[in-house]
Amino acid sequence: MSERVGFVGLGIMGQGMARNLMKAGYTVHVWNRTASKMAPLVAEGAHAAASPAEVAAQCDIVVTCVSDTPDVEAVLLGEAGIIHGAKPGALVIDCSTISPQATRDFAATLNEKGIHMVDAPVSGGSEGAARGTLTIMVGGADEDVERAKPVLQAMGKTITHIGEIGSGQVVKAVNQVLVVGNCLAMCEALLLAQAGGVDLQKNFDAVSQGVAGSWMFTNRAPQIIRRDWRPGFTIALQQKDLRLVLDAADELGVPLPGTSLIFQLYRTLEARNLGLEGNHALVKALEYLSGIEVGTEASQ
Ligand code: NAP
Repeated sequence: MSERVGFVGLGIMGQGMARNLMKAGYTVHVWNRTASKMAPLVAEGAHAAASPAEVAAQCDIVVTCVSDTPDVEAVLLGEAGIIHGAKPGALVIDCSTISPQATRDFAATLNEKGIHMVDAPVSGGSEGAARGTLTIMVGGADEDVERAKPVLQAMGKTITHIGEIGSGQVVKAVNQVLVVGNCLAMCEALLLAQAGGVDLQKNFDAVSQGVAGSWMFTNRAPQIIRRDWRPGFTIALQQKDLRLVLDAADELGVPLPGTSLIFQLYRTLEARNLGLEGNHALVKALEYLSGIEVGTEASQ
């Protein structure tokens, strides 16, 4: 491995992604705001740094995976940010889900110092991060994306170069429109089945393999039927992503009436302090409206 790789942001996603870089043979330099989260990876051979700038000073390529747009700004351009340690020619791969326009702005600021950047938001959840099977949507110049590919291939399975910088984030927003649309359809379908008095498992068996089937229905309808609200993806993060989707739509002047409605339904759940439940708990918003409860208590 000729390129030295750093990783900034060892959250639910970053832990698994950084570990897969180590499994692929990279010596990984890591930094996390909460220092204790570096310990498991350091025990496995990663080198802990004191700041994002220090990671960048020791590496040719730095991967970032933090929560939201201001957080990416902090680790890239903040006081001890990557921009202050990276050498000209270094490459930043941002795997966070953030604003496409902010991504272009951050890249332009880095470019002024000779630092390259690609946006590479991911889909596949914590399981995909741990297994190295993420779907990765990449935006950036051809040569930068080619250079990023071995690193991305260590973390993901389906890697698509969409176009220029920021385009990965645009497609991630598209991805989220599809996710929440499928989620609301699933929730309405289950509410109707419950109200119609049919057996929910038989209903599932009858429709999940036909034209109406979806990843969401196959994976999350059984959880709803059991009333199991453990998250694959939390309502809080889903809300953050929908804000990004609706901001992008607003900037482009595109109406997204369905997605806007779903955003408001999720907001009712956040208002009830359900932000840490899984995004399939969207069904609870329909339950509040209808007075009907779907499924039964979990028997696990
Ligand atoms: P997470 O577990 O909450 O981790 C967030 C990470 O960002 C932590 O390392 C956190 O540091 C760091 N961070 C947040 N704000 C920061 C700041 N201002 N300065 C420095 N570090 C900061 O979240 P996650 O699930 O790993 O998600 C990370 C990104 O991947 C998000 O953009 C998310 O939307 C995206 N994503 C997540 C999933 C999923 O299923 N979880 C799927 C696809 C995409 P601390 O440890 O100090 O808090």
